[in-house]
Amino acid sequence: MSSNLLTVAYIAASILFILSLAGLSNQESARMGNVYGILGMVVAFVATAASSVVTGYTTLLGAILPAVVIGAFLASRVAMTSMPELVAILHSFVGLAAVLVGIANYLGDSSLVGVEETIHKLEIYIGVFIGAVTFTGSIVAFGKLRAIISSKPLMLPARHLLNIGLLLGSIYLAFSYMQSEGTGGLKPLLIMAVLAGILGVHLVAAIGGADMPVVISMLNSYSGWAAAAAGFMLSNDLLIVTGALVGSSGAILSIIMCKAMNRSFISVILGGFGQGTSSSQSSAQQPQGEVNPIDAQATAELLYLAKNVIITPGYGMAVAQAQHPVSEITKLLRDNGVKVRFGIHPVAGRLPGHMNVLLAEAKVPYDIVLEMDEINEDFGETDVVLVIGANDTVNPSALEDPGSPIAGMPVLEVWHAGQVVVMKRGMSSGYAGVDNPLFYKENTRMLFGDAKKNVDAILVSLRENSPALAR
Ligand code: NDP
Repeated sequence: MSSNLLTVAYIAASILFILSLAGLSNQESARMGNVYGILGMVVAFVATAASSVVTGYTTLLGAILPAVVIGAFLASRVAMTSMPELVAILHSFVGLAAVLVGIANYLGDSSLVGVEETIHKLEIYIGVFIGAVTFTGSIVAFGKLRAIISSKPLMLPARHLLNIGLLLGSIYLAFSYMQSEGTGGLKPLLIMAVLAGILGVHLVAAIGGADMPVVISMLNSYSGWAAAAAGFMLSNDLLIVTGALVGSSGAILSIIMCKAMNRSFISVILGGFGQGTSSSQSSAQQPQGEVNPIDAQATAELLYLAKNVIITPGYGMAVAQAQHPVSEITKLLRDNGVKVRFGIHPVAGRLPGHMNVLLAEAKVPYDIVLEMDEINEDFGETDVVLVIGANDTVNPSALEDPGSPIAGMPVLEVWHAGQVVVMKRGMSSGYAGVDNPLFYKENTRMLFGDAKKNVDAILVSLRENSPALAR
């Protein structure tokens, strides 16, 4: 394939990627967004493989085929609730690739001289730095999400100084690297990669609990910049464009998430997230009082006597895979004149948009699925709120207890409703490990057990009583 044709193909792929991102910003167009993304990838892949850039097809196939099989196998087996772990480990691969491409590029033959050589060396240095931070940071994020390592933020005494020291060390090494001739700068390059790796570990280790969603989108952004850096090193325009798209969209998502959670973006990217909160963890109030249980049949009765119902799903609904009967309950109640809506917290579940995806899969109409900001004012006029497997996202201590580790995080204010029914299996805390005073409030009833079983039982009870639903 001629270089002109390759450029045209790359421009087409870039446009398809932009259309894909635009499509993914809205639930109704998301499916098409995915199709654009797949098409873009196919165009990019075929054009690159057919171009003169690629030689040695046997080696290429030997590397790609097993990767395709392993990737397809893992992705098809992964549960929706484990998706963030998969994303985190995939980000680490992007980071590692950027490091390896950088080192290989440095050791390879280069015909560049003068300013061009200087710029190329700088590209390699920056690429290896971002790649190493992304690589180790993503591995720590994977460990935290998988609960292999504690999700609590690691608060070392002089942690900001440590970060600055690692950064200054990397800048210092850049001087000897840039001044070296030939491949003489390999040593400072490798030492810097180690320092950047330690920085990646420390940045992510300092973030924890309810703040993990921001880590994922932040590492997504880092992996994009790592890919863009690899694009510069390989002089591949498409990789630069794609990396920049991923990097900037990940950064925008991080900013949106920070705003939604009332956190400072700067402190997140500096790994200082949760600073004030964890130190005051010990002063968090312990919720006290009586817990009032309820059964599925009584919950069904509450629902069919209600005029106005809000459902707030969380991680537990995803684990239990309760979205389909939830959708049927919604339909039944709506058919009988009950106003049913869903309130979705920005970090509900374990990945951005998790609940929206599950509800869309169960064919819940989009127009009754509202964001937290759109529905939070309405709880006061709501008869019944069903909290299905949500915990941190409905925890009043975020607003009422300044000593709480999640203090300041906006939550769904479900407790303003007439009656709240919380579905969960026991009294355990949510992902952030914070006790929830909602369970002890007078207007709260606890419906203990697996969410799917209980939702199924409510559905059966509602169907049995459906004549009573006619108004
Ligand atoms: P939480 O993780 O706070 O709580 C989920 C609750 O579901 C648990 O308390 C658990 O209680 C219950 N549960 C688990 N399995 C079942 C089941 N089978 N049936 C019924 N209940 C069940 O969920 P939220 O959605 O409210 O909050 C999400 C949390 O995850 C936030 O802290 C967020 O920061 C974090 N997070 C979010 C990410 C994102 O991108 N959205 C990514 C990473 C972390 P019990 O064991 O008693 O049943």
